[in-house]
Amino acid sequence: MPALKYLTGYPEPLLQQVRQLLADDRLGTVLQRRYPDLHEVRSDRQLYDYTRELKDRFLRQSVPLNKVCYDNRLEVVKHALGTHTAVSRVQGGRLKASREIRVASVFRQAPAAFLRMIVVHELAHLKEAEHNKAFYQLCQHMEPDYMQLEFDTRLYLTELAHRGD
Ligand SMILES: [Zn+2]
Repeated sequence: MPALKYLTGYPEPLLQQVRQLLADDRLGTVLQRRYPDLHEVRSDRQLYDYTRELKDRFLRQSVPLNKVCYDNRLEVVKHALGTHTAVSRVQGGRLKASREIRVASVFRQAPAAFLRMIVVHELAHLKEAEHNKAFYQLCQHMEPDYMQLEFDTRLYLTELAHRGD
């Protein structure tokens, strides 16, 4: 029975359904049907612009974004779907805090909705460090369908891992 590491904490009946879909080799098809649109955010530059655009729309006041990139060394689960690092640098004699967002490169080829989910997640961390209520409210402010998308992104990662086994 697969451990479903991407779905830790979700209710058991739900996990049973997922196991069944995996056993029947149907999870991939279900997701593909629900999320047929891929995105075209391929390069780090495009990812920066994409992230910047969302930030300007919803979080204009928060700390500046220093760097945004895909990272193929990132383990999605270990870093809670991405990383959010505060980088301190000396610039012109002054210490400046800026933010860096890294997105696991598995999202480079993912459905558009999942990239959006992950970027919204990381942007919300600019204001809220923890995965608390305020954090999820902010995510839903940027993407009303956030909770569903996060779950489906976890399903997507589960499916990829299953295929790789
Ligand atoms: Zn997080």
